[in-house]
Amino acid sequence: MTTISTNRNERASGPPLPAPLQSEPDRNCPLCPRLADFRAQIRGREPDWFNSPVPPFGDAGGSLLIVGLAPGLKGANRTGRPFTGDYAGDLLYATLLEYGFAKGTYQAQPDDGLALVDCRIGNAVHCVPPQNKPLPAEINTCRQFLIATIKTMPRLRAIVALGRIAHESTLKALGLRAVAAPFAHGAVHQAGTLRLYDTYHCSRYNTNTRVLTPEMFRGVFAKVRADLG
Ligand code: SF4
Repeated sequence: MTTISTNRNERASGPPLPAPLQSEPDRNCPLCPRLADFRAQIRGREPDWFNSPVPPFGDAGGSLLIVGLAPGLKGANRTGRPFTGDYAGDLLYATLLEYGFAKGTYQAQPDDGLALVDCRIGNAVHCVPPQNKPLPAEINTCRQFLIATIKTMPRLRAIVALGRIAHESTLKALGLRAVAAPFAHGAVHQAGTLRLYDTYHCSRYNTNTRVLTPEMFRGVFAKVRADLG
């Protein structure tokens, strides 16, 4: 496990956080012009889809936060709930149900009644990016909302970062330097009283190419469950 030096002014639950500007983005958030244009295009093409910044899902009083990359075009961008409606959600929610971080039945729709237990899911970037690839400037701009998500979780003890971009943006959101805790699948980093767990993203591409197997993914959540009790 990497222990990250958090230096000054540690808060009780981890390192000090930079101040967010506002808690959740407006439906028409204009801060990333490329993503706002893309959102407008999709609204024209698919008026029944959510097509807005996707808010976090789950329990703000929870101990665990999962940070993904960004909404998938036909997943969260369509349904309005993180990881709902695409392949990544199938693996993520099955795993959360298996380890007691969710209850109910996942049916890939926001009204399926699935509830998270002691857990919340957010994204490093709130708006769907073309080709699932946000630009560095967009990741930096949207970090204020990731900071807000973290700040509104007073009992937070563990963060699972899905992929390198989520890992690095989470570190920066916590006011930490990326070089202090390099990303690696299965790595665990201690930052004050917060623990950051890394996994490869549960995308279809990663599982099809066996970069990530369901067993590897479950292994990370087994560790989180064992640590949180
Ligand atoms: S990605 Fe974040 S900052 Fe950028 S437009 Fe969407 S909500 Fe605003």
